[in-house]
Amino acid sequence: MREILRISALLIVLVALFGMLERVWGLHRQKFLRKAFATDLAYYFITALVPRLILLVPLAVLSAFAHHLFAGTLYESVAAWPTGLRLLAAAVVSDVGAYWGHRWSHEIPWLWRFHAVHHSAEEMDWLVGSRGHPVDLVFTRLCGYLPMYLLGLAQPMGGPKMDLVPVLVAFLGTLWGFFVHANLRWRLGVFEWLIATPAFHHWHHDRGDQAGGAASQLNKNYAALLPWVDGLFGTLHLPKREWPAQYGTDTRVPESLQDQLLQPFAGQAATVATEQIRPV
Ligand SMILES: [Zn+2]
Ligand SMILES: [Zn+2]
Repeated sequence: MREILRISALLIVLVALFGMLERVWGLHRQKFLRKAFATDLAYYFITALVPRLILLVPLAVLSAFAHHLFAGTLYESVAAWPTGLRLLAAAVVSDVGAYWGHRWSHEIPWLWRFHAVHHSAEEMDWLVGSRGHPVDLVFTRLCGYLPMYLLGLAQPMGGPKMDLVPVLVAFLGTLWGFFVHANLRWRLGVFEWLIATPAFHHWHHDRGDQAGGAASQLNKNYAALLPWVDGLFGTLHLPKREWPAQYGTDTRVPESLQDQLLQPFAGQAATVATEQIRPV
């Protein structure tokens, strides 16, 4: 119950903050209560609560496993680094892990079924950052956490002292997730290659020409935080001034929340469309 109150309080802050920013610096003219706003509001609570619960056990096992397996090696010297340094290294390492998790979610058809829910948004705003199937979120977060725990950048869970590093990485990642989806026309020049911005992530949602398959055409800008990670792996796309003309995917994703959550398991509704459903 306390957790729900905490999440609701954060929601009020986010609505006020992004409501104001998008009103002043909005990129596209659109209503605050746009299509699927209520569904995304439900996703806000699902995303904040469900993946964390599912991840609790695998992360505890993973962290204990890494701690025992690598005891006495490099792992221990890394674990002794100051929190600030570990946090910085953890942010880089987890972004590389999450980059690959996200890229595989586009390249592997059964993962795309779940990830397509996120790409079904046709209007972008901060709340789209919440839209995600729990399976998709658990998979990508696990890919981000895995290298962080294996390298000793995060302390084992359930230890005598709570380790702030994984908590802060998750919290900053979540907040940044709202920012990069926001309907904001800000451009930050050279800094856009250093840290993810709305322009960087909006291109990841570019509907563009999906003639080669809905998932494969959204094949750019996978990083959550660090665009240069995309530069490293050859997937960076960041034109100086342009923005995508259309967002979304040609993959058919059901409209109702319940169907969005259930149909990827059936493997039907969110399969990659072979025929084009282009607007005329
Ligand atoms: Zn994606
Ligand atoms: Zn997104």
